[in-house]
Parts: sequence; C-alpha cells; structure tokens
Amino acid sequence: MNAYILADMTWPEVKDALETVEVAIIPVGAHEQHGPHMAESCDAVLAEAMSKKLAKRLYPSVIVAPTIAMGISPHHMNFPGTITLRPDTLINLLRDMVTSLKQHGINKFLFMNGHGGNQPTLSVASTTLTQELDVECYYAKTTATAKEAFKKHVTSKLYGHSCEREVSEALYLAPHIVRKELLERGDIVEGGRWEGLRPGQPIQGYYAYDEMTRNGCIGDATKASLQAGEDIVEEALEGLTGAMRRILKQQ
Ligand SMILES: [Zn+2]
Repeated sequence: MNAYILADMTWPEVKDALETVEVAIIPVGAHEQHGPHMAESCDAVLAEAMSKKLAKRLYPSVIVAPTIAMGISPHHMNFPGTITLRPDTLINLLRDMVTSLKQHGINKFLFMNGHGGNQPTLSVASTTLTQELDVECYYAKTTATAKEAFKKHVTSKLYGHSCEREVSEALYLAPHIVRKELLERGDIVEGGRWEGLRPGQPIQGYYAYDEMTRNGCIGDATKASLQAGEDIVEEALEGLTGAMRRILKQQ
C-alpha cells in the first residue's frame, strides 16, 4: 500500500493504519454542469485524484476519506443535470464525517476542495467544527496556488470553470471526463449584471452562471493541454505537501 484510501481498506487494515495516520483528507467536489466538453462529476473526480496524490506523498501520515461528490452549486441549476446541496447540508455532512473519524482517533482534517463555490461554506465549516468538536479542520482549493504554471499556461482574463486551467488538470488527472473533440471557448455574455459582482468589484453578490456564459464555461478550453495539467497539478502538490508537513507532527 503506498497511500491509505479508506474506501478500499478492511477494518484490520484501517486499525493498523491508525498507528501512523494523523490527518484525514476529505475530498469535496460538486455535481454541476461543466459546459459541453466535461462531465458533471469533474470537481469531485479532480478533488479525489488530488487527495490520492497528496496521500501518496504523505504516506503513512494521512488517509483519504470517501469523497463528498456534491457541493454548493445553485448558480449552475439553470443547466441540466446539476445537483446542489444547501450550505447547511454540506456542513452537516462534514460534521458527521469528522465526528465519526474522531471516534477512530483522528483529530486533524483537510477538506480538499475541487469547486470554488464551496470555499465560503468550507471556511465556515472549518471554523465551526474546529471550535465545536475540539479538532483541527483545514481546507484547501486543489490547485489554487500553482502561480507559476498559471502564468505560463493560462491566457484568459476570465477563467476558472471548464477553462484551459480546469480542462488541463482533467487531461492529466482524469482524461475520461473530457470530450476532447468538443472543446470550446466560453461563450461570454458581455456587459451583463455579473460583471459588477465579480471578485475585486466594490460589491459581490449572487448571479446565475447562465447570466455570464451561454455554454456554461469560461476561459478557453481549446488551449488546454496535458503538459499544462501536469505543470499545474505538480506545482500545486508541492505547495500542499509543504503546508501539510507543517501541520503534521513530524516536520
Ligand atoms: Zn469545476
């Protein structure tokens, strides 16, 4: 075994693993439309794949818990197939998972997030559950810190959903979810209400994704590549590994 993946283990294997495991990684994804060229499972699949890679690097100190394959996606509901949780539901799911795993002796948790729309809820979950359950809960957006690779490979000003970044990550981590022959650029609604509500604007607020893009994606997926995916994922993993070593007992 070169990574502890809870779903694949028997209880005696888990019992042995708990001798060294200090942190449980809980992958958190979404089930939402990703334009015409990626499957709706994208964020869950990528969060799980990143978690497994990180667990390999940090073996035998971490274990990967089952993936939460849905997240906070009300803004995608106007496209067919999206399923959204309410923020309270996601926090309650995490509360029950953390409570269960704490009973088995794990006291540190990393919510490995594949979906930007989950970030505010995971921030609340990490604060609330840390206080309430006397554990340490952290959260991370899978590849958000891969700054050098973004500089090199991301050309769109507006990106972050089924774009050159995310499709490249999928080409590297889970090519089966990409429809390579259907890749297209985001069909952006210029001058929409959404432009005044983006991060960095004086006020932010809710808008539906179809107010911003007609085909459900932003950025330019036609620029995605396996090489970009490898650069982004490996740079992000370096950062995550270093950060995790600091919260593990052994440096
Ligand atoms: Zn996504």
